[in-house]
Formats: sequence, C-alpha cells, structure tokens
Amino acid sequence: MLRRHPWIFSGAIKAVRGDPAVGETVDVLDSAGAFLACGAYSPHSQIAVRIWTWDESQVIGPDFFRSRLARSFAARSQTPMSTYPSQHAGACSAVRLVNAESDGLPGLIVDRYGDFLVCQFLTAGAERWKHIIVESLTAEYSFAVRGVYERSDIDVRAKEGLSAVTGVLCGEEPPALIEIDEYGARFLVDVKRGHKTGFYLDQRENRRIVGELARGRSVLNAFAYTGGFAVTALRGEAANVTNVESSSPALELARRNAALNGFDESLCVNVEADVFADLRKFRDAGRSFDLIVLDPPRFAQSARQVEKASRAYKDINLLAFKLLSPGGLLVTFSCSGAVSADLFQKIVFGAALDSGREAQIVGRLTQAPDHPVLLSFPEGEYLKGLVLLSAPPRFLAAISNPSRSLQ
Ligand code: SAH
Repeated sequence: MLRRHPWIFSGAIKAVRGDPAVGETVDVLDSAGAFLACGAYSPHSQIAVRIWTWDESQVIGPDFFRSRLARSFAARSQTPMSTYPSQHAGACSAVRLVNAESDGLPGLIVDRYGDFLVCQFLTAGAERWKHIIVESLTAEYSFAVRGVYERSDIDVRAKEGLSAVTGVLCGEEPPALIEIDEYGARFLVDVKRGHKTGFYLDQRENRRIVGELARGRSVLNAFAYTGGFAVTALRGEAANVTNVESSSPALELARRNAALNGFDESLCVNVEADVFADLRKFRDAGRSFDLIVLDPPRFAQSARQVEKASRAYKDINLLAFKLLSPGGLLVTFSCSGAVSADLFQKIVFGAALDSGREAQIVGRLTQAPDHPVLLSFPEGEYLKGLVLLSAPPRFLAAISNPSRSLQ
C-alpha cells in the first residue's frame, strides 16, 4: 500500500464495514483506522479494491474522471511518437488514449481509431462509472468524436462478476471497417469484431522497426493477424512475405491490407494454418527465411500456466531458428505478463542451443509508448521482444572447426 500499488487483494482485508455495492467507492483504512486510499470495491474478484486515489481530499465523481482523462490525453502528446494530429505525415491515427492502471484509471481502456473511440470497461469500478466516463471522454477529447463504441467482451470481466457487453455508447456506430494510418502504412480495422479493440496497437513501434530491417529479405510473419508486420516489411522493401495465421477473417484482412498499401498479391502469400504444424511442414520441406517474426498470442494467462507456456515458446522459437537462413534475423515476442523478460530470454537461448544455432541479441523491444507502465505497477509491462541475428555461415564454420579451438 505504501508503495502505491493500485491493487488490494481480498486476503489483505481484515474487515469490510457496511455493505458496499459492486464497484462502489470505498475508503481503505490502516489497522489504526487512518485513511490510506480510496478505490472501487469488487467483491467477486481476488483484487478486492482498485485504487482511484491516495489523496483523501479528492472526491470520486465527474471532475475526477475529467481531470484523469485530460492528464492521460496530455501524456500522449509528450511521447516520442507523434500521434496528433492524424493528418500530418508520419503521424498515427490510431492510439491508446487510456491504459488503465498505468494512467490512473484502473480497468479502463480507451483506444482511438480515426474519429471513433473504442472502450473496454474491465472492472466493477470502471463499469460503475461508465456513463460518467463516456460523457467526460467526449467533453475532454478535443477532436470531433463521431462515436464511442464499447468492446467489453473480454474474459477478465467474468472475474469481476460482469458479463460481456458490446455496442454503441454514444454518437454514430462505427463502420464495418475503419481505415487507420500508422506512420504512412494503412490498415483496415474491424473495431466491432476484431481482437482486443480491433488492432494490436502495442506493436506499432515494433512494426516500424521490422520495416527498417526487412529490405531484400524473404519474411515469415507467424501469427500474422491482419498482416501488420507484413505491410511494414513490404513497405521496407522485403523481397516477399508469408503470413501464417489460423483465423480466416484476420487473414482476409491481411490480404486486403497488403492490397490497400499497393502491394501485388504475388509478394504476399497468406497461409491459413496452425503455426505449430505449419512451421514443421516448412522445416520438413527445407524452406528458409531471412527474417522471421513470431508474435504469438498470450500463452500464459497466469503464473500457473508458465511452464506449459514456456514449452510452447521454446517449440516455436526452435522451429524458427531451424527455418532461419544464416545471417537471418528472428524477431520474437512474448506478451505473457507472467513470463518475465529474463525467463523469455532463457527460453529463446534454449531454443537456439537445441537448434544448433549461434545468435546475438541486437535489439530489445517492448510495448509502444501509448501503453505506458506506471512505476508503481510493474504488472503493466507485458510485451517483450528480442531481435536476434543468427550467425553467418563463415562464423558458424569457425566455431565448429575443432582445429581452431583452444586446446
Ligand atoms: N502480429 C500481429 C498480432 C498477432 S496476435 C499484429 O501486429 O497485428 C496473435 C495472432 O495469432 C492472432 O491473430 C491469433 O488468431 C493467431 N493465432 C493464435 N494461435 C495460433 C496458431 N496456433 N496458429 C496460427 N495463428 C494463431
């Protein structure tokens, strides 16, 4: 508590006075009865209180939400990426405006896609203040919002005793597809049915980096979703891209996104398949690629699943190393918060060893700056990536030549 972590677990609570309703604002007191913080009560969750404020004088109501939202929007204009205004070259028209706990608004996600805002209310507290939050959003956000859409169809709501909800919260309903601009790359986003709020905004800067690494390379984009990395690789003059993805609507958008950016179908092959099986097929067929992107879904949903997830990460990374041409680049990610950066690096090292490959870390990647991590909330950091350069053939020959080794 004194470290200002925004969660209070149910086991840390000695007694609940009165009968607070789900999501109601409650004061948290220490054992001597002194005020510590005030937050939203969630009796169904292991996280029984999520802190709104440590300031006793602050009233939780419309003014509180307006000022927190304003602070969150202002922070976006201070980050290295230039997200405002969208019509300027090199800017981005899709951005995370509110990143929950890390922006002082536990349980609230707000993403902007062009003229529309898409929200997720993940917790009882955020749910209780939904209508005030939506009013404050349209009042505080300075550009013309055409509509606010809710995508609260996410499993974590069940832990809070909340059911899945989607639909228009105010203004117009978004069209079936919204076109966004990401540093000049164009993408069609299905905000109503796509993953998360429609697009993996957290990978924005990493997509740009892959674009810079791709020139002349044949690229394998595994777990492609709607082809984000494929488009930036092609814009970076990749020789060709192979997308592997199990969701057919996502892959159809990947095809449309390549075309939208002016790339001929012959440059981008789309394979609807399970990555685990398909990479084995490529290996058995003796295929190789000069740049491989591995961006799997969250394999570990909790600490209990870390071991199983580690095996899955090892498996795909081992296959990727086998498919990587000498001197090739592997850009490999984990978005499982429960798998630490250190553990992830060890898993990837194990995969390199087992594949007989030598590789160097030439880059470390993380989530985009509009997904900030509050220092007092390290759980907010979940995405980690490594850029690995596999040793060129001459170097491999040198390390495997016994006459050159020290005796
Ligand atoms: N790189 C993407 C985001 C990838 S999200 C981007 O930048 O937009 C992970 C994707 O993996 C999802 O689209 C999901 O449908 C897909 N997926 C999950 N399990 C899979 C599997 N076993 N084989 C192939 N695709 C899978």
